Amino acid sequence: MSAPRFRFAPSPTGIFHIGGARTALMNWALAKRLGGTFVLRIEDTDEARNRPEWTEGIIDALAWIGISRDDPTFEGPYFQSAYADQHVAAAQRLFDAGHAYYCDMTSDEIQQRAAAEGTQGYGGWSRDRGLGPGPGRVLRFRVPAGTTVVHDAVRGEVTFDNAVIEDFVLLRGNGSPMFLLANVVDDLTMGITHVIRAEEHLPNTPKQQMIWEALGHAVPQWAHVPVLVNEQRKKISKRRDKVALESFRAEGYVAEAMVNYLMTLGWSPRGGEEIVPWQVVEDEFRLEDVNLSPAFFDLKKLAAFNAEYLRRMTPEQFADAAEPWLEQWRAAHPDCAWDQHRFLTMVPVIQPRVSTLAEAPGVVDFLFLPHPQFDEASLAKALATDEAAGIVADSIAAFTTCDWTCDAINAAFAAVAEQHGLKLGKAQAPVRVAVSGRMVGPPLFESLEVLGRDETLRRLRALPDGVRVP
Ligand code: GLU
Repeated sequence: MSAPRFRFAPSPTGIFHIGGARTALMNWALAKRLGGTFVLRIEDTDEARNRPEWTEGIIDALAWIGISRDDPTFEGPYFQSAYADQHVAAAQRLFDAGHAYYCDMTSDEIQQRAAAEGTQGYGGWSRDRGLGPGPGRVLRFRVPAGTTVVHDAVRGEVTFDNAVIEDFVLLRGNGSPMFLLANVVDDLTMGITHVIRAEEHLPNTPKQQMIWEALGHAVPQWAHVPVLVNEQRKKISKRRDKVALESFRAEGYVAEAMVNYLMTLGWSPRGGEEIVPWQVVEDEFRLEDVNLSPAFFDLKKLAAFNAEYLRRMTPEQFADAAEPWLEQWRAAHPDCAWDQHRFLTMVPVIQPRVSTLAEAPGVVDFLFLPHPQFDEASLAKALATDEAAGIVADSIAAFTTCDWTCDAINAAFAAVAEQHGLKLGKAQAPVRVAVSGRMVGPPLFESLEVLGRDETLRRLRALPDGVRVP
């Protein structure tokens, strides 16, 4: 048997949908494991919605999720618009062989006739009129009687009653090919053996199968993967939901986490562990194991996957990965005193506290800003207490003389807390707010060590007027 050929056939729309990413990854996983080819075909026949930068966007998005055009498994991109002659030639063959016929009825005429006959849709009324091509005449496929059985790798056998499939249009009245025809002819000429795509194309499949067969070819292996739904169990859509791969990328989701999560939608690796390297996906992914029910695209779970991938990075990998977001933050804060070494010291305490890279600067920004940015609610809560002023004053004294290491700061502060009869955690609040402006943040004593004695004391002494008074 010759090597299998898979394809990903997006219509450029300006955004690269996560559902598309998932379909592409499934094709890619199988092409890789089976030593096949992954063909990228841009279905760009809708001229009104077609821009070169959208194709670049698709190629770039694919590369980000590991489907690189430089990989020998990758073929293309091909552009559907370049093959219009072949689509029309195939339509001609279908006409010559009697599988298709011309029809000049307008949609109004069709509606009127259907209403008069008490039926719906087009009733094959031009089948035997012997019309030839002409302006405004569409070419329709002559749907045979009987049933069409689609063998789907995910769904098993799906039987369609041909009686409910009207004689569908292959060529428009202006002679241009319809999607159903162009898609089949391209798959056929490109030697595609597996058509793996979204479930929404299942209703097209019996019609496409008829075209394949009428053109004298064995059909490819079909596979229609279940739709992705949101929390309300509605199909995710670009109007309602965040669906652009690019927006996740911009927020600091890492490609490996995104890829891993997308592949667990309706499928899971055998070992029970969902967070797995790509190689496991490539080795284990089977269409037969894809779950039939709609898959919940769970933003919280995706964030948890991403957080886990971020935690597993070495500090250096994390710092590198976060750099674009840090750079943005520095550009927005030209007065900051950025210090890469101090940042690197903090990375291990940042890693467990973020689920996206975009959150990284916000965890440690106070260390580099000239002044903490006080959050009013935290100020009121932490400093307007009876003990706050005393704790701050005693901390200033203790921090002036203790060694400046995390452990020594901790020990010095523990003594202050004890003096005030407070648990360490509770006692920390005024100091934390004084140096960072906020109630929550990375571990306090590590932060103080990195901030330095002088700056810590300066911030404690510089608390805004009045805040110590309840
Ligand atoms: N161009 C079609 C789409 O983007 C895909 C067709 C197919 O995969 O067969 O929905």
